[in-house]
Formats: sequence, C-alpha cells, structure tokens
Amino acid sequence: MMTGTHRPIDFTDTVNGCRECISHCCNSEGYTVVRHHGKLIGLHRRIYEGKHRRLRPGEKVVHLCGNRRCCNPAHLEAIMPASEGIGSIATADSGMSMNSC
Ligand SMILES: [Zn+2]
Repeated sequence: MMTGTHRPIDFTDTVNGCRECISHCCNSEGYTVVRHHGKLIGLHRRIYEGKHRRLRPGEKVVHLCGNRRCCNPAHLEAIMPASEGIGSIATADSGMSMNSC
C-alpha cells in the first residue's frame, strides 16, 4: 500500500520472460528509475533488494537478459565492479549470497 507521491508501479511481461515497467520513465541510460527518499534510483536495484538481499555499497545490479528496463528478479544479478575499489569488499559476509537457483 503506497501513499503520498509514490505512483503504483505497473509491469508488463514480455515474450522473453522479461518484466518491463510501463508506469515509470527511464533515465538517459535506459534504466527505469523511481523516486526513493527524494533520490532517483534504479528500479531494478529496488527489485533486487526486495527479492534477494541488500546491496553492498558500490555493488551494481546487472541484467542477465540485457534488457535494462527489465525488472524480473530472476534476470538480475549483483556484481561488485572490480574497478571501483572501495576497500570494504573483504568483509566476512561473502557467504551470505548463496545462490540456490
Ligand atoms: Zn529480463
């Protein structure tokens, strides 16, 4: 149940099994964005966190299907970009992201 300025988020399923957002617009990179605490963030990141786990700082969510508008949690995977060394990768929680698909 959402109140205030939040619009309900609507999806449509495509033939590839992708789930594209049709209620919100996308940014210049083609990712669907939503407003969250006054900030625009990628909808796929929120979906990922809602379905899988919290993202760590610096972690990116990539689309395995290549469709940036897709928000199907099964098509999303979190990666830690190697180029963005933030110094906190070596924390002891590497066992938390068990992939049991
Ligand atoms: Zn997809």
